[in-house]
Amino acid sequence: MTAEHHPTRSRLVVLAGPTAVGKGTVAACIREQHPDIWISVSATTRAPRPGEIDGVHYHFVSHEEFDHLVATDGLLEWAVVHGRNRYGTPRAAVEEQLEAGRPALLEIDLQGARQVRERMPDALMCFLAPPSFEELERRLVGRGTEDAEERERRLRTAREELAAESEFDVTIVNTDVPTACRELVDLFSSRTSS
Ligand code: 5GP
Repeated sequence: MTAEHHPTRSRLVVLAGPTAVGKGTVAACIREQHPDIWISVSATTRAPRPGEIDGVHYHFVSHEEFDHLVATDGLLEWAVVHGRNRYGTPRAAVEEQLEAGRPALLEIDLQGARQVRERMPDALMCFLAPPSFEELERRLVGRGTEDAEERERRLRTAREELAAESEFDVTIVNTDVPTACRELVDLFSSRTSS
């Protein structure tokens, strides 16, 4: 059953945008300041980074477990990100939150956002944009640890990702995190659920 058949459901907002634009930081700000907004915990095949907690930051799963989630339609969407690991949104948890009338946020990559738009046309699609291409370039290659080829590859990807903006319902420019966070929170009350 799709979202259109649930007039009482609360808003689902999908936050996506180019690599290094700061989606994770904006989502962390919401997590800290707006516990009323539920943020989906993705499943991933990548290894935890220091400080990351299983079930909090991600559900860290094996390749076999991820295969099983895909095979049983346990994921609302999934994608291979940065050509390496698989990431996906557990479907049941999102359904549960929406049925319970809680505002829900997905912070996912562009490929995943496109899948959610297909499966849940009522979701509000939000694109997080950098203040400028130059700023994104700075955030992407700023550490200066990549060689010229890798740098060019990243910038090419960033240009393609920026072109996806027109596919989204709204754009938030991530000039500073608290403002972007506030604008994102406002989206949950900007339109009554349909
Ligand atoms: P990281 O490995 O740095 O935590 O995340 C890398 C990328 O994976 C980020 O761009 C993030 O938006 C994306 N990502 C995290 N969870 C999901 C998910 O469930 N689905 C998809 N499609 N992308 C995700």
